[in-house]
Amino acid sequence: MRKAFHLEVQAWAQKIGVQPKRIQIQRMTRKWASWSSSGRICFSDDLLSEPESFREVVIVHELLHCIVPNHGKLFKSLMKAYLPNPAKAVPATSYTCSKTLESMSKRCRPESRTR
Ligand SMILES: [Zn+2]
Repeated sequence: MRKAFHLEVQAWAQKIGVQPKRIQIQRMTRKWASWSSSGRICFSDDLLSEPESFREVVIVHELLHCIVPNHGKLFKSLMKAYLPNPAKAVPATSYTCSKTLESMSKRCRPESRTR
């Protein structure tokens, strides 16, 4: 599962033309993913059980930060260019890396986040 996810991320990195220094998948309790300016991207292992359409949004979003470090106009247009038909449930531009799991909770398992 993790390996497949890694390959997915790498395939997108190639498509976008970026080379993140490090891709990590780890337990993250507050965010889906995080990006650091040093080129390291961490993904939450919760993504492994999310639908592909949602994973794509998160992957493309984080990889684009290697090119555009903010969420400005350029960022949004690139997002649309790479994901012209995002899943209805998760519009590509509605996800941002600063959103927490709770606020970006998905159709699938809303109850699993209650603590
Ligand atoms: Zn972001």
